[in-house]
Amino acid sequence: MSLQDISDRIAKAESAAGRAAGSVQLIAVSKVQPNDRVEAVLQQGHRCFGENRVQEAAGKWPAFRESFPDVDLHLIGPLQTNKARQAIELCDAIHSVDRPKLAKALARLAQEMGRCPDLFIQVNTGEEDQKAGVLPEDAESFINECRALDLPVRGLMCIPPVDEEPALHFALLAKLAERNGLDGLSMGMSSDFESAIALGATHVRVGSAIFGARVNPLE
Ligand SMILES: *Cc1c(COP(=O)(O)O)cnc(C)c1O
Repeated sequence: MSLQDISDRIAKAESAAGRAAGSVQLIAVSKVQPNDRVEAVLQQGHRCFGENRVQEAAGKWPAFRESFPDVDLHLIGPLQTNKARQAIELCDAIHSVDRPKLAKALARLAQEMGRCPDLFIQVNTGEEDQKAGVLPEDAESFINECRALDLPVRGLMCIPPVDEEPALHFALLAKLAERNGLDGLSMGMSSDFESAIALGATHVRVGSAIFGARVNPLE
């Protein structure tokens, strides 16, 4: 696979779903990838990337941004409150807002810093103990809580359980978003992004299918 293959498959999936060309944003997930692979994708003109750790993003992206200042960087992994300031400085979007303490910290820092990335609320659609995200039944109240804090909530994000049909989770996330008047849907990874697009994904997070297997997988 390559960036071009994935872009072509996204275009086909958009068209098959009767959606406008370009309505799905491809987040190239560069976590744990060697810099030369990331650089190659930058050289091909792609600018939207995802990282799952603030520390790794901080070690990698300021240098790339010197050559590619228009990079659009998305944090897709768990965010500790004590890294929130750094995340706001580095990232254009955060996909993992999942608890009141973090929402309050982001709101306070956004005020102070005069900027806030686009935010996605992570929903634990599979209700898995080990997984981050608000439970589906708590999504509405948490979305309202974030809105009351004036946070720029753009959409919802999910990571389906590995052993279940992802489409069921994508459909649930889409329903929760619609019910709450949200347009953004961050869902779909290397193995299931076409299904996510069919169910309304606006952002797909694709790593290994673009860059190759991760050298040292984190999950
Ligand atoms: C790593 C990761 C991805 C990309 O996974 P692939 O299977 O390599 O496409 C997507 N979303 C999140 C939250 C991730 O941590």
